[in-house]
Amino acid sequence: MLILPSWLIVSAREKPRRGWGVRVVGSQIADLAPNQTLRERYPEDEIWEAAGDVLSPGFVDAHTHLYGILAHGIPLDKAPSGFMPFLDEFWWPQVENRLDRDMICAATDYNCYAMARSGITSFYDCEEAPNALPGILTAQAAVVRSHGLRGILSFEATQRLGEANGQLGLAENADFAASAREQGGLVSGMMCFHTTFTCDAGFIRRAYDLADRLGVKVHSHCSEGTYEPAYALDHFGKRPVAYYETLGVLGERSLLSQCVQIDAAEIELLAQRKASATHMPLSNCEVGGGIAPAQALVDAGVTLGLGTDGYITDFFEVMRGAFLIHKANQLNPQVMPAGLVWYLATEGGARALGLENVGRLAPGWQADMVLFKADLPTPLEEHNLYDQALLYCHQTDVTGTVVAGKTLMRAGQVEGADADALRAHSREAADRLWRGKP
Ligand SMILES: [Zn+2]
Repeated sequence: MLILPSWLIVSAREKPRRGWGVRVVGSQIADLAPNQTLRERYPEDEIWEAAGDVLSPGFVDAHTHLYGILAHGIPLDKAPSGFMPFLDEFWWPQVENRLDRDMICAATDYNCYAMARSGITSFYDCEEAPNALPGILTAQAAVVRSHGLRGILSFEATQRLGEANGQLGLAENADFAASAREQGGLVSGMMCFHTTFTCDAGFIRRAYDLADRLGVKVHSHCSEGTYEPAYALDHFGKRPVAYYETLGVLGERSLLSQCVQIDAAEIELLAQRKASATHMPLSNCEVGGGIAPAQALVDAGVTLGLGTDGYITDFFEVMRGAFLIHKANQLNPQVMPAGLVWYLATEGGARALGLENVGRLAPGWQADMVLFKADLPTPLEEHNLYDQALLYCHQTDVTGTVVAGKTLMRAGQVEGADADALRAHSREAADRLWRGKP
């Protein structure tokens, strides 16, 4: 198949190419060239005419909680008073502890549709639902596979409900990662534990040992607010990243999400140990956690991806957040330029998650792509495409989504999806969650 757009983004590290397209064979990009050259080279190929559109590597949501959607609009007397009360008084008792398998699968089903609709082709999900163990990842994987997205699933193991539940969480990750690898395809597993304030040293080491054996990354949330560094200093005499270093676990397997309240020494340590990080500019605002040092992480050489955190899931909005928030915070319009943000949203996220050959549209790379309309009131040019797209575009401008060479959405329609039914099912699940109904 040939896809012939008006603009092609091969890699967000390069300038976009006007009038270039790609040839897709199987799951990969096989060739790229000016559209006319492709037509002449491959006269027999099926053609996807996409004049007026930009073709980009698909967005990688490098950190989400798919069940999070069910909490949007939940009845609350007032907003929690800080990060820890957010978890302790609201998120844990009213959301995560109440989640059951049907609720999670309903949220996953709707979100997979919504991701395909908005150009997200890969995602990493972090499930915390201690009362949905065991087997929740296998149930969720069946839903994800039915949508054709590239997904990495994990369970956020924690000792907050006791040792037995914690070990069940670690085993859930290990068992799922092994079985998903055996099954093959686009869905895989990752090891995951919560934080230094809900998991002890032995538990964290065990998570890393299991990951070593399986050859997978290990995700943990890190210093999403000031609570965790204060806790770590108080209990271990060190900030969280330094504490992981002391435990001997910090390394290329480490994927630390949030990294909001981290200091310069921690950034340096992450870079030295080749750990990866993910940045969620909008949800950091929601929980009052602060503003992450995203540009400093990039400057230090830390592999960084962008995520929705299950909050605002339009990736154009997340990119706009990453583009704008740091400029205001650092009083500097030169930080987080649009091309860098686009890179973090695509190849950066893929690298952070350890996805191979994902995030560029070059021969031999995976054909994970998003097409979006860029019918703007000022001219789109080589020098301004990333900035213009971040200024003007929304998920509703996405016209096509392709994952591993398979078309999930074309002409603005997600193939085979009944959006109304998926939304209704998600609403029912949310209602059960909110009312605490079994
Ligand atoms: Zn998170």
